[in-house]
Amino acid sequence: MAPRVVAVDVGGTAVKAGLIDDGGRLGAVDRTVTPAAGLDGRPVIDAVEAVVRRLADGAPPAAVGVVVPGIVDEAAGIAVHAENLGWHDVALRALLADRLGCPVAVGHDVRAGGLAEHRAGALRGAENAVFLPVGTGIAAALVLGGRVFAGDGYAGEIGHVDVGHSLACACGGRGCLEAIASAAAVARRYTAVTGVAVGGSRDVAELVRRGEPAAVAVWDDALDALAAGLALLTGVVAPSVVAVGGG
Ligand SMILES: [Zn+2]
Repeated sequence: MAPRVVAVDVGGTAVKAGLIDDGGRLGAVDRTVTPAAGLDGRPVIDAVEAVVRRLADGAPPAAVGVVVPGIVDEAAGIAVHAENLGWHDVALRALLADRLGCPVAVGHDVRAGGLAEHRAGALRGAENAVFLPVGTGIAAALVLGGRVFAGDGYAGEIGHVDVGHSLACACGGRGCLEAIASAAAVARRYTAVTGVAVGGSRDVAELVRRGEPAAVAVWDDALDALAAGLALLTGVVAPSVVAVGGG
């Protein structure tokens, strides 16, 4: 059988994985709810192992690539910190390679997405560009001089820049872009304003389509904040392309 790799995206809400063939084509996909990680990340590592084994279906993959949010030391394969997962200094690459018996690469979710957009998607050919996915959190991938800039794992954290509001953020700060404009924030704010529980930002988007005033107000706040964040990035990085994506 041709060598296959499994790609895994550990998000704040779901662990998404896909089987990739030797031509780079995406085959079977799998998805599971992200468990609460705890400091040592064991429940998440268990979930990643389970999803890889399900997709590989008895044939060990040639390699596994795992991307995670937060601060990531890609060279050492360590998940340093993630507000939405709660882990600290988890040796993800070593732990997963040991369990799965194959090479494992660990990357940052947004920078990996930016790299993919630069290689094969919306940022192709751009010397300087920004990829901004809006998910449970918000971070940007910066392409500078044709390469994704990691800044020792700390670059692109635009989600924790103050865009001028008073809401508290999971990072301990106030006014963060992420606290008003992430998918999680949109759902949370709608519920806080109306007292009506929603399944997620998709539900709020549907209410916006129907013109529900509270949903429109929450959505407008999110868009204003995103625009402020992107204006800031544009002033600093001077990208020729900005790609906004989902999380
Ligand atoms: Zn913050």
